[in-house]
Amino acid sequence: MSMSALAETDEEVLRVANSKAWKPFSYINSDGQPDGILIDLWREYGTRNKVEIEFILLDWNESLEAVKSNRADVHAGLLWSEPRDEFFDFGDALINIETQLYYSQAFIGFDVDELLKGKVEQYVGVVKGGYEEYFARKEFPKANLKVYPNNELLINAAFKGEISAFVAVLQVANFYLYSSDDPMSFVPVKYLYSGDLYPAVAEGNRPMLDAVNLGFKKIGTATRETILHKWIHIETVYPQHFFPTVVGVSGLVAMLYIIMLKRTVKARTRELELVNEKLTVLSTTDELTGIKNRRCFMDAIHQLDTQSESLTVMVFDIDNFKSVNDNWGHAIGDEVIKEVAQSVESILTPSMLFGRIGGEEFALVVRELSKESAIDLAQSVCLKVSAARMQVECNTHISVSVGCAFYPNGSNEVDLVTADKLMYKAKQQGKNRSVVELIE
Ligand code: GH3
Ligand code: MG
Ligand code: MG
Repeated sequence: MSMSALAETDEEVLRVANSKAWKPFSYINSDGQPDGILIDLWREYGTRNKVEIEFILLDWNESLEAVKSNRADVHAGLLWSEPRDEFFDFGDALINIETQLYYSQAFIGFDVDELLKGKVEQYVGVVKGGYEEYFARKEFPKANLKVYPNNELLINAAFKGEISAFVAVLQVANFYLYSSDDPMSFVPVKYLYSGDLYPAVAEGNRPMLDAVNLGFKKIGTATRETILHKWIHIETVYPQHFFPTVVGVSGLVAMLYIIMLKRTVKARTRELELVNEKLTVLSTTDELTGIKNRRCFMDAIHQLDTQSESLTVMVFDIDNFKSVNDNWGHAIGDEVIKEVAQSVESILTPSMLFGRIGGEEFALVVRELSKESAIDLAQSVCLKVSAARMQVECNTHISVSVGCAFYPNGSNEVDLVTADKLMYKAKQQGKNRSVVELIE
């Protein structure tokens, strides 16, 4: 305790430090006067113990420094923590407080754990030197923390969107939020801790601590209640169930939102899958015949392992197709192309690669055939088409000319050029036939 200029009144002066912006516990009011629950408690202390109280209200960390450096005799009230215990001796508990993590409504539905693990580009605000900072660094060290000198600046930063979350004492956040235009802009989403506020003196100042403890014993429970009641309007305006309700409702809203989101995502995913399936079919299938289109066929033969086993490559083309188009029209021509494809497909096995590579040109690639089977297959294609009775009205006899390149030892790469040349040979030899060549 120190004597001040007022010593002639025989009253001692006790310098009590705390925050200048920690509503409703300790703050400087609009008249520039100290105000708050702790202030009232300490004023009562002053009256009971006949000491004049000089309040030293600063930014939070400064208020701690003030006691450490003996610019103040006692800290009005703070939570106990291990690091603080090195510098302070704590007195008897004054008030119980509860601390929550507040998250912006804008991010409702976001995973709070992701925020606390620093996995999202969002900041969590804490007051410098506050138990909140200590707790946050200890419990969620990976979170992106932003540090503010006091609660008012912290909450202003939250309103400005500098931070999307903050750690604050429920009563404090409550006070600031509900004196703002948008009290629901931040909601408590996670209970972090609760604890008592203790008066504290600089480490080792035992006589001061004893005096403080003794001094507070003179303030009975009834008076303490009266002081708290003076601030009770906070609880009346924001009844006890309010915050649990907000947490509950926000939780529910978040849950419903997540469920709806999941459903929408699921439905959209299914839609996309269907569209993709459709697109895949469209991009790989020849619309007219339903067999592989040129691109898909070429992709398929390029992925084929063609080296060790025998390889049969065929190209065939409808004979005199121009006359079909000319005599019966394009629509009939299309039907003919379709029926040729179907009749050839009917004699193939699933492992044979078959595609429409041009207007009325087709190709067929087969592995592991003997030379005889390859010759047979080329012949079968010719015969099948030639013998087919076209469903479509067209009196023209439909036939194909087949060029077939047989690689008994496989081939480094499949190309259609050789088979194509052989197909022209078949045309030259009178059409409706196959020309097979052994290529070693
Ligand atoms: P060749 O026996 O020598 O093959 O004689 P061709 O009359 O069949 O002659 P070519 O193969 O050169 O001509 C094929 C014609 O097929 C050319 C084109 O007008 C027609 N064509 C190409 N694609 C289509 C198609 O998708 N539908 C129809 N209807 N006609 C097509
Ligand atoms: Mg033709
Ligand atoms: Mg042609």
